Amino acid sequence: MPRLVKTVCSHDCPDACSVLVTVEDAGKSPGDARAVQFRGDPDHPVTRGFLCGKVNTYEQQVYSNDRVLHPLRRCGPKGEGAFERIGWDEAITAIAGRISLAEEETGGESILQYTYAGTMGLVNRNCPTALFNRLGATQLRQNICYYGADEGYRVTVGSGYCVDPEDAVHSDLVLVWGANVVTTQVHLMPFIDKARKKGARMIVIDPYRNRTAKVADEWIGIRPGTDAALALSLAHILERDELLDRDFIERRTIGFERLSREVLPRFTPAQAAKITGLAEEEIEGLARQLGAASAPLIKVGIGIGRSTAGGGAVRAICALAGVTGSYETLGGGIQYDTGCEFELDLDAVTRPDWLRGEPRVLNMTDIGPALCEWQEPPIRFLYVHGTNPAATAPLQTKVHEGLSREDLFTVVHERFLTDTARYADIVLPAPTFAEYADLYKAYGHLYLQYAERAIPPRGESRSNLEVVQALAKKLGYDDPWFSRDTREHARALLDSSHPNLEGVDADRVLAGETTRLNIPRKTAGFAERFKTPSGKLEFYSARLEEQGLPALIDFTGEREPEEEADNCPLRLLTPPAHSFLNSSFGNLEKARRREGGRPVLMIHPDDSGEIESGDEVEISNLHGSVRLQAQVTTDTNKGTLVAEGTWWPSHGIERRGINTLTSNRLTDLGGGSTFHDNRVALKKI
Ligand code: SF4
Repeated sequence: MPRLVKTVCSHDCPDACSVLVTVEDAGKSPGDARAVQFRGDPDHPVTRGFLCGKVNTYEQQVYSNDRVLHPLRRCGPKGEGAFERIGWDEAITAIAGRISLAEEETGGESILQYTYAGTMGLVNRNCPTALFNRLGATQLRQNICYYGADEGYRVTVGSGYCVDPEDAVHSDLVLVWGANVVTTQVHLMPFIDKARKKGARMIVIDPYRNRTAKVADEWIGIRPGTDAALALSLAHILERDELLDRDFIERRTIGFERLSREVLPRFTPAQAAKITGLAEEEIEGLARQLGAASAPLIKVGIGIGRSTAGGGAVRAICALAGVTGSYETLGGGIQYDTGCEFELDLDAVTRPDWLRGEPRVLNMTDIGPALCEWQEPPIRFLYVHGTNPAATAPLQTKVHEGLSREDLFTVVHERFLTDTARYADIVLPAPTFAEYADLYKAYGHLYLQYAERAIPPRGESRSNLEVVQALAKKLGYDDPWFSRDTREHARALLDSSHPNLEGVDADRVLAGETTRLNIPRKTAGFAERFKTPSGKLEFYSARLEEQGLPALIDFTGEREPEEEADNCPLRLLTPPAHSFLNSSFGNLEKARRREGGRPVLMIHPDDSGEIESGDEVEISNLHGSVRLQAQVTTDTNKGTLVAEGTWWPSHGIERRGINTLTSNRLTDLGGGSTFHDNRVALKKI
């Protein structure tokens, strides 16, 4: 008799869906249980009974013939993917031996844990960090995704609360700015759609006509990296037309006088049109709609932050919402990232107190140069879990060169033989989210949920926690922390005195109840909660001034061209593909077919010359070259090339991925990645 088991999708997505797995007990033993269907939990207030197209056939991932099901040891050249099966004892003994050797001979800093959000399960994502803290390993600064946008947000309105996505229904104008919600946060759409049914317009501001723009009322095709200029011009027009909320500005912000005097006069519609590539009428029209709305909501995408000036762009957009006073209206303000509201005791799982001294720190965008060039000590032991740097990290050629080093011992804990795993000395089999228990928060809503495993692990897969425990035992660590089970770790995470956790009953969470944080519903904006040093929205940041950074919000121009810019006239964007999630799902042929079968490059007709759709083209810069299949389209703007999705390099033409061309340059604020700010030359093959 089939039964339903409630779990949570662990993928790196704001929605953290509550998932109902239909399990059939095919045989006599519990080990025979099989997941036959994955569907959205109808009782979850945000999942609302549906999953995205990536996960609603998740049984194909779980039972894929390509799963790594046993520990493997390399038996061929690095990168070739030749492995032989070994047992867990042998694998753990070999790994612990290599850790001890590196520690003894070159110190803890020659050990590197390289990880990201392959699982969002709070216990399993974070517990390996405790082991590596205990070892004194090089610390990893996980700057690959949102650091630029986050810092822009934090210095302007403070980290923490943004508009509750469920309150989007109360908005009367939704600006989706630099986000492809249909692809990357699909559970926000029903709330936006409800607002639209009541008369709200949805406008997408993005350099290319993404899936969300295609279903919007209007697409504003801005030149990449010029968002701050548009935001400041809109503020200029609102001030010119006396549509500012002066009362809000007076009570809840600081620095407007200087912004008004020193910055806004420069951003006339004519000037902004030159910078952004938009028509003056487009900018005026957008300002008119913004000025007329009573609860304008801006959905800010993380992608805006992945430009060299990305932090400043997010600051300017937050400022725009400030001059309209929308933060105090129900449904108005900024919808960004709810993750910071989950004030859990993360240190209980990562154990920063185990660090000895201050080990050196690696920006994860620098993994290629670090593997190739770092000395004193060089990285000799690399442990990769929850990420696939051979596909996702910038400077891909260097990453592959580093992973090829014969004197580097690499362990990869993975579900599939990714490009990174192919370089490993040992591959450990990892479970899918249906196969382990964990506690989940979200960054697109306000609900916690604990999930028990729905089915037994396939093959010999083991969770991160189980691997950490086995390694700790072999290394001789006997701290009781290493014996805690998942529920005990989850309980420790929930043991927080923060007001947002007040009244959250750990027993009920651990019993699987979807549990909302202690944040009131239908709060009319969140201006009272600005967590800046002044407690107000800061057009001017004294904290940035202290750091020697521009204190006043401004647009200071696009970045200085790099040495390759003369020969590389086109800008390359690498936004998410609809069928992949970062590099996850890239193993599925069905997903690759949906994305065109081969990596596709969108080219505006004005840039295409002799190139026609379907032609093979090459784009290149000083970091290397990549071949893709051309799609000539007006869905992107002149001067902007778009390559959606992080295809596995091994599925790319000539086995090279798009991150061959992306650099490790950092953002203006927050030291984040700049995946959307690279220049290339284009030619037909
Ligand atoms: S990837 Fe996102 S939208 Fe899809 S099921 Fe997982 S959490 Fe939900």
